[in-house]
Amino acid sequence: MADGNMITVEQLVKVYPGGTQAVASIDFTVSEGEFFGFLGPNGAGKSTTIKILSTLLKKTSGRVSVAGHDIDKAAMEVRRSIGVAMQEVGLDDLTKGRDFLVMQGLLHGQSRKEAQRRASELLELVELEYAAARKVGTYSGGMRRRIDLISALMHSPSLLFLDEPTTGLDPQSRLAIWDHLQNLNRQGITIFLTTQMMEEADRLCGRLAIIDQGQLVAEGTPAALKDQQGGDVINITIQASTDEERGRHLAEALAIVGGRSYVSAANATSDGLSITVQDGGAAAPDLLQLLSEKKIAVSNLAVASPTLDDVFLKYTGRQIRSEESSGDEMAAAMRPWMGLSRR
Ligand code: ADP
Ligand code: MG
Repeated sequence: MADGNMITVEQLVKVYPGGTQAVASIDFTVSEGEFFGFLGPNGAGKSTTIKILSTLLKKTSGRVSVAGHDIDKAAMEVRRSIGVAMQEVGLDDLTKGRDFLVMQGLLHGQSRKEAQRRASELLELVELEYAAARKVGTYSGGMRRRIDLISALMHSPSLLFLDEPTTGLDPQSRLAIWDHLQNLNRQGITIFLTTQMMEEADRLCGRLAIIDQGQLVAEGTPAALKDQQGGDVINITIQASTDEERGRHLAEALAIVGGRSYVSAANATSDGLSITVQDGGAAAPDLLQLLSEKKIAVSNLAVASPTLDDVFLKYTGRQIRSEESSGDEMAAAMRPWMGLSRR
């Protein structure tokens, strides 16, 4: 990896037998140590890409290098350097958690002692020691994901591929997995993750690409992608005892606020103002003080950031949410207590 790239993909194309073009000539790189994400709706080509990169599926054309090895010329070396946790988890319900891990270690050529040591270390990492002697069949969904995740780490790979690691999990299990993944990345493991969840991509990924119909439509840090949307929206509710007073205060407030240099747009709403600014956190105190000086009472102020949903909409003309799996309804329910807001 002379160029520092853990993954290099050039003009990757996948056409399935039957003619479906799942990946339509994509290019991207992932640097060593990055937490990189593919965000896209169902059928976008995420699983196809991750399977090709992890040598589980043959590409139609293009060049792919993973962990410093060309996937065509050195598939074995690639496999030794990577861990893979796929969407469809095939765990044997009758195997005990620890035994399952040790078996994976043995398959990777570790001695029993070595495998046992590594299994203990990983069980501790994801707080599963307490259930290590139980059969996997007794595990909850979240526990199964965790055991699957650490089984991919038995041989200490430097790169981890995760295909929708939290789809279908309850909010609490999802948060636990997110914590573990951030932890692994902090320890130096490069992570390539796919997701249909904007919140997941936003929270975990240092950089991400939005994929739709086999093509990459946008790429960047979550912040940069959202910044392209033109800043924050501040919604202010104005308090008044009569409609006449409200109308008067609204007109006055609109004139004052609209005159601030950092305000790019200000509009009246049914009970107040909607104001677009570059940085909502910085603008809010100043706006409140201005209105207070004019004796205009404010009963509520809310700052809403643009979401990756807005970004997806801008590039594809569709909302990712409408096509999301049931797993994401939970994410929607979680949004308020995660401190995320939507316009
Ligand atoms: P995602 O993981 O983003 O949901 P996939 O990579 O699974 O998307 O699928 C991309 C496209 O390729 C879809 O149109 C899907 O129907 C098609 N596809 C996936 N697997 C196969 C297959 N084995 N044979 C034919 N078409 C497939
Ligand atoms: Mg998939």
